[in-house]
Amino acid sequence: MSNFDRFAFSADPSFDEAKTREVFSHAVPLKTLVIYCYDPRAADIPNAVAQLFGNEIFPGEVILDTSGKRVASTATIFPVIVAGGRAIDALRSITVAQHLFGIENIVVVHHSYCGATTFTADGIIDAYEREQHADISDVYDRGSICIEDYEASLKRDTGLIRAHAGTPKHVNIFGYFYNIDTGELTEVVKDGAEATLRV
Ligand SMILES: [Zn+2]
Repeated sequence: MSNFDRFAFSADPSFDEAKTREVFSHAVPLKTLVIYCYDPRAADIPNAVAQLFGNEIFPGEVILDTSGKRVASTATIFPVIVAGGRAIDALRSITVAQHLFGIENIVVVHHSYCGATTFTADGIIDAYEREQHADISDVYDRGSICIEDYEASLKRDTGLIRAHAGTPKHVNIFGYFYNIDTGELTEVVKDGAEATLRV
């Protein structure tokens, strides 16, 4: 038994998985996942998406129960923050978000002057070999390692998410380019759930 068991729902002797999931589904009115880069200059991206979409709340407020415990939130947007905003790192988070809360939209945002445009797949693989004595050539799909062309990276990532078994069929998937100097979002991909069903 770990010292931290009292903080784990599943470690409680009366744990009921289905009931716990039902409670969680009401704890957050989640609608939209926003996948973007961990570059601090890109930190406003979920706010920009909230403004663009309207009817979204981010970061929202944490709701306390009568004993002061943090039990819920008003946020409708959850951020998924990964290098370059590349979808490869976000797939498991999409699956878990759908299972716990349900989602309607997935938004992938790649930003101007991203660090992911400063290197190539060959460059990082060669450097790792030399500096870390590690072979990462087969660890990641080459097309998901860096960003060479923003339209291509956004199309690849929204396609990767759509094709992923853990992505619910009913979600809309968007790809945006974000200018870090102006805060402007430009739509590059709009893959509506209905459009997908018609294909
Ligand atoms: Zn970046």
